[in-house]
Amino acid sequence: MHERNILLDMVLGLAIMFLILSLISSSLTGGLQNKGIQWLFLFLALIFLILHAILLSTYARRRGEEKMAIKTIIKCTKCNYTCIRDFSEGDYVLKVIGKCKCGGNLFISAIFNDVESKE
Ligand SMILES: [Zn+2]
Repeated sequence: MHERNILLDMVLGLAIMFLILSLISSSLTGGLQNKGIQWLFLFLALIFLILHAILLSTYARRRGEEKMAIKTIIKCTKCNYTCIRDFSEGDYVLKVIGKCKCGGNLFISAIFNDVESKE
């Protein structure tokens, strides 16, 4: 899941790069009289790429931390039983995960990020 987000981010980064490249090419076809602008575009493209790389690495690190703190709240349909456990793969809201001691169904009532209380 978190690899997919990085991939999405990389696609976004490539889109930005293509946008800048098209700006460079348009400035080239627009006339060679203004070489300063071409260098400015090239410089901006470099800054964009560096910033993106920094953002990507901090984003990936934060995603990893958040994943550790995701909690799942389990409730019973009949009694007041409530339990909080760590999120596990395949958890989703309203998923029935088993039977309660009272005979009711145990289901996932909420999934939340506990990152704020951790700090
Ligand atoms: Zn119960």
